[in-house]
Amino acid sequence: MSVVTRFAPSPTGYLHVGGARTALYSWLFAKSQGGQFVLRIEDTDLERSTDEAKQAILDGMTWLGLTHDVGPIYQTDRFDRYKELVQQLLDEGKAYKCFMSVAELDSIREAQEAAGEKPRYPGTWRDRTDHPADAPYVVRFKNPLDGNVVINDHIRGDITISNTELDDLIIMRTDGAPTYNFCVVVDDWDMGITHVVRGEDHINNTPRQINILQALGAPIPEYAHVSMILGDDGKKLSKRHGAVSVMQYRDDGFLPQAVLNYLVRLGWSHGDQEIFSVAEMIEHFSLDNISKSASAFNTEKLVWLNQHYMKTLPGNEVGEALAWHFAQMQIDTTTGPAHSEIVAIQADRVKTLAEMAQISTYFYQDFAEFDANAAKKHLRPVAKDALLLVKENLLALTEWTSENIQAAINATAETLEVGMGKVGMPLRVAATGSGNSPSLDVTLVLLNQAKIGERIDKALEFIAIRENC
Ligand code: GLU
Repeated sequence: MSVVTRFAPSPTGYLHVGGARTALYSWLFAKSQGGQFVLRIEDTDLERSTDEAKQAILDGMTWLGLTHDVGPIYQTDRFDRYKELVQQLLDEGKAYKCFMSVAELDSIREAQEAAGEKPRYPGTWRDRTDHPADAPYVVRFKNPLDGNVVINDHIRGDITISNTELDDLIIMRTDGAPTYNFCVVVDDWDMGITHVVRGEDHINNTPRQINILQALGAPIPEYAHVSMILGDDGKKLSKRHGAVSVMQYRDDGFLPQAVLNYLVRLGWSHGDQEIFSVAEMIEHFSLDNISKSASAFNTEKLVWLNQHYMKTLPGNEVGEALAWHFAQMQIDTTTGPAHSEIVAIQADRVKTLAEMAQISTYFYQDFAEFDANAAKKHLRPVAKDALLLVKENLLALTEWTSENIQAAINATAETLEVGMGKVGMPLRVAATGSGNSPSLDVTLVLLNQAKIGERIDKALEFIAIRENC
């Protein structure tokens, strides 16, 4: 059997981390089995579905690299097929028209609630043939009256539900629109889905869907209902806990590799391994190792993984992601060091790419002013001689290499008989605008030699102004 899985989001909002993890598990399972992954957009709820949300889901999937083999398939393109199968079930006596008015239904529900019973449709029109002409109706599925439905869930084991718990589900509304559970069933069948991986919030739908699949003569897929993700305080994950949209993580400076690695471990394990490349995830993934208990989101761990990937992925790959952040900040990086060179010297100094871009702007544009604290401390009259001499030594270099830069700084400190810091710190503030930067040899080498001269002049001017006031 060739495995086919799907991710079937309703486009009513962005792709959130819970959805992304479900998508990842579904994708990984397909990949691990050499199968296919279908992306299906469940947009039948016309009031709540938006084009922005559809795009946000596609963007999120693309950013994470969760490519689909089939799709995206939009349910709104498939109404004819759903209607055809509703008619088939009607013709076969497996579904029926229900003419009960909303008022009647409400009063039954109220009576049931008053009696402390679970509200359920009592099957009034199940076998009636005295259909009124031209009256509005819904189509209901004839759920079996007895017996059990068993879900063999990969994560939760067998779940048995008695058919007496289930009433006759509406599969087509008065306006002719097929309902959600029916569309899911038809699609899972038509698309040959062998494994349904989805959130545990759908467990209640599963027995109904299995009954409808059986009535259609469709094979029953295997199921894996994934547990919820909670915030680090044990409450349901929400905006309060930070970013919940996957794209927000990109905006905040996380690499997709870090997010994927974080998500895969959020509810799945392979021994005590923490770091997984996508290839390793595919190699080791299995539905049976997904945890049944809810997982708690832990931003610190995500940061740790992000740092790991910033340091270990090929520099040009991280550099490309960094370039996106510079572009967001409208910083032109066409001249200046390659992005990968920035990554090489800044990766172990930051938590995110957004931060990396923010502290690296001096490589591409002049800063408007020196950091006030750093300037106060290091751009003082005593620094004048050091700056003048180091400028001379640096500008005299015929080859702009980090070794030569280091030698020029050393020579300056020796000539002036001062410690390295007395030269290095003023030079750092002059060159970068702040007191924080990677070591000067590797920083300055990425800056243009003439530019260093100009910036030292600016620092000397600053000192002169300060001296005069
Ligand atoms: N469209 C449903 C949702 O977004 C998922 C349905 C399913 O996976 O069966 O929650």
